[in-house]
Amino acid sequence: MAHRYLADPFAPHRRSTREVRVGDVGIGGSNPIRIQSMTTTDTRDTQGTADQTELLASVGCEIVRITAPSLTDAENLAAIRKELDRRKVRVPLVADIHFTPNAAMVAAQYVEKIRINPGNFADKKKFAVLEYTDAAYAEEIERVAEKFRPLVQRCKKLGRAIRIGTNHGSLSDRIMNRFGDTPAGMVESALEFVDVCEDEGFYDIVFSMKSSNTQVAIQAYRLLATRLAERSPGEPSYPFHVGVTEAGDGEDGRIKSAIGIGALLVDGIGDTIRVSLTEPPEEEVPVASAIASIGFESGDVAVEVGDPGAPFTADPYAHNRRVTRSVGPTDTDIGSNHPVRVEVDLGAVPSDPKQTAETLVRNLKTYPDLACEGIVVDVSDPNSVRSLQTFSDAIGDAGMSIPIAVCVAPDLVAQWPACVARVVIRTATARDDALLDAAAMRCAESRTPLEWNICGDIEEISDRLDRALEASARAELDEILVSVESSLPVHAARLVAARLEARGASDVPIVLRHRRLADDSDETAVLRAAHVLGASLCDGIGDAIALEGFGEPARAVDLSYRILQGARLRTSRTEFISCPSCGRTLFDLVETTERIKARTGHLVGVKIAIMGCIVNGPGEMADADFGYVGSGPGRVNLYVSKDLVVRNIPDDTADDRLVELIRERGRWVDPA
Ligand code: SF4
Repeated sequence: MAHRYLADPFAPHRRSTREVRVGDVGIGGSNPIRIQSMTTTDTRDTQGTADQTELLASVGCEIVRITAPSLTDAENLAAIRKELDRRKVRVPLVADIHFTPNAAMVAAQYVEKIRINPGNFADKKKFAVLEYTDAAYAEEIERVAEKFRPLVQRCKKLGRAIRIGTNHGSLSDRIMNRFGDTPAGMVESALEFVDVCEDEGFYDIVFSMKSSNTQVAIQAYRLLATRLAERSPGEPSYPFHVGVTEAGDGEDGRIKSAIGIGALLVDGIGDTIRVSLTEPPEEEVPVASAIASIGFESGDVAVEVGDPGAPFTADPYAHNRRVTRSVGPTDTDIGSNHPVRVEVDLGAVPSDPKQTAETLVRNLKTYPDLACEGIVVDVSDPNSVRSLQTFSDAIGDAGMSIPIAVCVAPDLVAQWPACVARVVIRTATARDDALLDAAAMRCAESRTPLEWNICGDIEEISDRLDRALEASARAELDEILVSVESSLPVHAARLVAARLEARGASDVPIVLRHRRLADDSDETAVLRAAHVLGASLCDGIGDAIALEGFGEPARAVDLSYRILQGARLRTSRTEFISCPSCGRTLFDLVETTERIKARTGHLVGVKIAIMGCIVNGPGEMADADFGYVGSGPGRVNLYVSKDLVVRNIPDDTADDRLVELIRERGRWVDPA
C-alpha cells in the first residue's frame, strides 16, 4: 500500500524536494542534509552574537538562527551581519520571529531567511475557548493573511526564504478550537500560511512541525508531507527542517532527538536538522551531524522486496502499537498489553558462569528500579550448553530471577537445559527446512517459546519468515516470536510486520535486537541505538528490545529504558522538557535545569518544563505537568499544566515553591 508521505516504506529514498536557497546554502533538492543551530546571546549584543555565530560556523553549523523579539533586535541584525562580514564569516542567518510581524519586516533586510511561527505570527495565545462559525473562521484566516502578505512580498523582492515553523505547543486558539493540539492541527496551521505564499507566487519555503513529543513530531511531519504531495502531485515538494523541540539535555536530549529526527530520516524526510539541547549551541552541531549521517547512512537504496501483501501499519499518522498475543513465562511474558520488555544480550555463554552470574546480579542491582526482564546468551557448542544451567542456577543463588533466552544454532536444537525460557533460532544458519522443523518440533514438545531470528538482506526477509512460519505451523507451535537482523533494520522490521499481517500472523510479537557497531564512538552508539530502536517503536513495532555490546548489563538496561521513555512508550523516570534557550532567555537555563533535575529527578512519570521566557515558554511547554518559566530578570512564574498558579516570584525561592507545588498536587514522593 502506498503511503503518500514516502516513496517506499521498505527502502530508503529521500523525499523529492525543490531547492530553497538561503544565501549561499541550498536546502533540499540534491543538497546534503544541512546542519543548523541557534544563538543564545542577547541579539543586541553584537560582539557576543557574532562570536557565537563564528564559533558555530567553525564547528560545522551551516545556517545560524538568531532571535529577533523586537524592532531593536531586528535592527541590530544589520550590525551583526556587518561584524560577521568583517570577520569573513559567510554563514547564512535566520531571524526567529514570534508575535512581532514588524520585526520580521525589518529583519528581512539583513538576513537570508525568516522563521515565523504560524501559531503566533498574527495571533496572541490566550488559551481561549471559542466557537467559530465557518464564516468567522474564514474571516480569521483572511485577517492572518493580511498580516503575513507584506512579509511574503518583501522576502520575494529581496530573495529571502521563509520557514513556516509550527510548534505543537504554540498553536493558535483558532486552530486549537477546531483541531485540538493534534498533528492535524499543526499541519492546518502551516497550510494557512503556505496559501498566502503561493498566492503571491513565492515558493522559497521550508517547513517544520516540531514537538517535544517524538511521536507527535513524526506524525505531523508525515501528515504534512502527504498533504503537500496531494496539493502538487508528482512535483518536488517543499523542503523540511526537522527537529524535536525542547529535547532537554545530556543523554536523554540526544536520545529523544535521535528517535524523532532519525525516524523521519528513515522515511527520507528531512533536508535540514536542528537538534535542540539545553546546552551551549555548539554542542548541538556534532549531535545533529551524527544523526544526519546515521539516519540516511545508506543513501537512496534500490531494493526489490516485492509486495509483502499488507501494509506495515494501518495508520502511519497515529501511534498504534501492533496488537499481539502474550508469549513466554508468566510475569515477563512478551506482547499483548504488557509494556515493551527490556532484555540484555550478553553474547556467548560466559566461560566462568558462576562468577559472571554474581557480577551480573551485582551490576543490575545498581539500578534497582529498572528491571532486566530477560537475558539472551549465544550457545554455539555443546560445552556452552552444559554451562548454561550452572549460569542460571548461579543467578538464582545471587538473588535474582531473570528468564534466559538462548540463541542456538539449529543443529544444536535437541540440546538445551530446563532453565531455558525461550529459544532463539537464526534462520540464516538453517540450511534446509528440516532443521527449522526440528527446532519448532522440539519447542512444541518442551513447551518452550521460539523466537525466529530472521537475518539476511532485506530481499531475503519475506522468504525466510515464510519458511519459519510454515515450520511453526507444521509443528503446531503457537508460542512464537520474531526478530529481524538486516543492514536496513527499520525497513526490515516494517517488512516483517507487514508480512506477518499478510500471513494471518499479525499477533506474533516482534523483538527488536540491536548490536553496537565496533567502530562507533560511545555517543554515536547511543544515537544509533535510539534511532534504530526508536524508529521501529514509533512505527508501533516492538514488544521487547534487547541491546548487545553496550558494556555492563546495567548500562544496557538503563539505556533501553531511556529509549523507551524517549519514544513515549514506557516511563521510568522524570520527563524534563527544557528549552535550548535563545536571546530571550531570562536565566541560566543549563544551570537551572541541572538544579531542578537534582531536586526532582526521582519523580517517575512527572513531566517538568523549564522554559527561558514567558513569551514562548507557556505555549511551548506542551504537555508538561509543571512549568518553571522565566517571567522577568530574576523572576519566575510557575505553572500547573497550562495554568499560571504562582506569579513572578524571586528565582531564589522558585525551586522550593516548585517542590511545594508538586507536593500540593499529590505528585511528590521523597527520594529513596
Ligand atoms: S522558550 Fe526558551 S528558546 Fe523559546 S523563546 Fe523563550 S527562551 Fe527562547
